[in-house]
Amino acid sequence: MLISQWKTSRQILNAIRYCYAEHFRLLLTGKAKNLMLIFGHVGITLGAAVTLNGTLSKSYPLTTKENKIKEPPQASSELVPAQNRTSDSRASWLASLANSIDIRLLLLGSLLPDIIDKPVGQFFFRDTFSNGRIFCHTLLFLILITLAGLYLYRSCGKAWLLVLSFGTFTHLILDQMWLEPRTLLWPLYGFAFERIDLTHWTENIFHALRTNPGVYVPEIVGAVILIWFTLVLVRDRKIRTFVKKGQVV
Ligand SMILES: [Zn+2]
Repeated sequence: MLISQWKTSRQILNAIRYCYAEHFRLLLTGKAKNLMLIFGHVGITLGAAVTLNGTLSKSYPLTTKENKIKEPPQASSELVPAQNRTSDSRASWLASLANSIDIRLLLLGSLLPDIIDKPVGQFFFRDTFSNGRIFCHTLLFLILITLAGLYLYRSCGKAWLLVLSFGTFTHLILDQMWLEPRTLLWPLYGFAFERIDLTHWTENIFHALRTNPGVYVPEIVGAVILIWFTLVLVRDRKIRTFVKKGQVV
């Protein structure tokens, strides 16, 4: 029994290792572009922020003008049955995050580089750039937005720009921008961005979604986190409050 379980877990690990090895082989040989789509960016950024805030907020609380006047969220775990406490404690981590920052801005920040670069590089100035990853996918943009965010936080106690900066940071990681050093380290390699063939861009995305585990696995993980988030809002009847004010409690 133990041996068969061990064999099964080894097979699963081997399958995961193969998927990632294959993905990186395709990336390195230029046969696949590293694509990350909406659910992956938004969901994984939200999951990372909830986890980071839940583990670090007691030691390093983010004190903003907005959350100074709010009451800290009350964990209601005493009021719920034991079997519901794990999910409820995660929901209280979410409430704690919403008390520190505006989650709507976090979701926006997780897509910020694409929201700016895709229309500019792929549509409005396609002839010039022919690339959906330009200025906002660079380390320079991340550094500038983070420094401006730190200045705003220290001088006025406003964290909104830092939230966008965190979203941009996770976006660059999930886009695996270290594989595109010419863009990431712009303008160290010159001012021109690499041009890519965008002829079958949409078809390539749908194809990668069906066949490339490096694309569909993060999308599934992100979608699961977003479904959990939506279910918490629906359960607490907070959809409208969240959309209007960013509150989840
Ligand atoms: Zn991107």
